[in-house]
Amino acid sequence: MKKKRKIRYDRIIKIIVLPLLLFIIMVLAIKMFSKISKKEILMTNFINKEVELVESYAADNNLNLDITYEYSESVTKDYIISQSISENTVINDGDDLNVVVSLGQIDRDVYEELGVNELGKVPIMMYHGIHNLNNSDTAYVGGNVDIDGYQRTTEAFKDDLEFYYENGYRMIRLIDYVNGDIDVELGKSPIVLTFDDGLKNNIFVKGLDEEGNIIIDENSAVGILEAFKKKHPDFNVTATFFVNGELFEQPEYNEKIIEWLIDNGYDVGNHTYSHGKLNSMTTDEVQEEIGSVYQKLNAIVPGEYVNIVALPFGIPYSQTDNNFAYILNGSYNNISYSTVATLRVGWESNYSPFSSSFDKTYIKRIRAYDNNGEDFDIEMNFKVLESSRYISDGDVNMVVIKDKDSIYLNSNVTKNVIKY
Ligand SMILES: [Zn+2]
Repeated sequence: MKKKRKIRYDRIIKIIVLPLLLFIIMVLAIKMFSKISKKEILMTNFINKEVELVESYAADNNLNLDITYEYSESVTKDYIISQSISENTVINDGDDLNVVVSLGQIDRDVYEELGVNELGKVPIMMYHGIHNLNNSDTAYVGGNVDIDGYQRTTEAFKDDLEFYYENGYRMIRLIDYVNGDIDVELGKSPIVLTFDDGLKNNIFVKGLDEEGNIIIDENSAVGILEAFKKKHPDFNVTATFFVNGELFEQPEYNEKIIEWLIDNGYDVGNHTYSHGKLNSMTTDEVQEEIGSVYQKLNAIVPGEYVNIVALPFGIPYSQTDNNFAYILNGSYNNISYSTVATLRVGWESNYSPFSSSFDKTYIKRIRAYDNNGEDFDIEMNFKVLESSRYISDGDVNMVVIKDKDSIYLNSNVTKNVIKY
């Protein structure tokens, strides 16, 4: 009996215990080996070091580096102010690393010399039709096609654009102006272009190419704007088009037009369904006028149009009008809407979005027309702007104002404010 049991123990050791031990040793060996080969990498401290160092570090360790720039009184230019991953944190492939790099000390002399003034006025230009005519083809002055100058010739429109560009204006989107995101290079001034009424000559489609893309008439407003985009890439060409229920009056192409505009850096807003007078309607009618256009746009470019209304005829003339609240908020067909801004008709430039006087729900525009430098025409307005215009500091995240203007700063500005 004893002998037999001993044999059984030997067999158990041979069959079970030995392989088990071998297995455990192998597992431990693999674990140790992988620990050696996969040594944890700990984040290095780059604060107060040169930006080049973090660039090569990020490349070596496969980190997604994102760099933003800020002025700093204490950190030297091109040195790092802060890093999103703190020192000695374990880093892995594909981690995001955000660093803030110093632009050095603010150059007050440069601001002084360029007259940087981000509380200055911004021209919001109001156009309607652009007609393929020379100025000499019309009976009116300076490229006006009609007596009011609402309709302009292509020649005058091209001259206007050249004039804005040569005078240091750079285009921004209306919605960016409304939101106070003014991204214009140092020393230049923002300008906004708007077109009302969704006229055919704003973007006339001649047909479709082989791939089904719209072919835009080069003499329509967008055709001319596209040519300027190529000629002056730093002009940042853009515009906002305000349409009625007929959109761009080209039923066959309306949807493609709106999609094209959005895809190509333009914006589309609301000019009411039937272009009626919003002060002489019932509140239900006002909501139908506003809500139906939003819904129409939403069906074509969901969420990509702007919730801005250009008021037909500039009516109501006062925000105290009973119907005004329904332009801003309401509902139609049980779908509610809210409007972030409205545009008036005429007559001069509007406040900086950082000014305490800025009211985005009631924005003034300049009528883009000629009247021999009188009656708030382009020439008159831009003469006034010479001493009052918004001049950019070149940093979208910073608001630079003159010390003496501090009292005009809007208290709800959340960006860094620098006074000089
Ligand atoms: Zn209109």
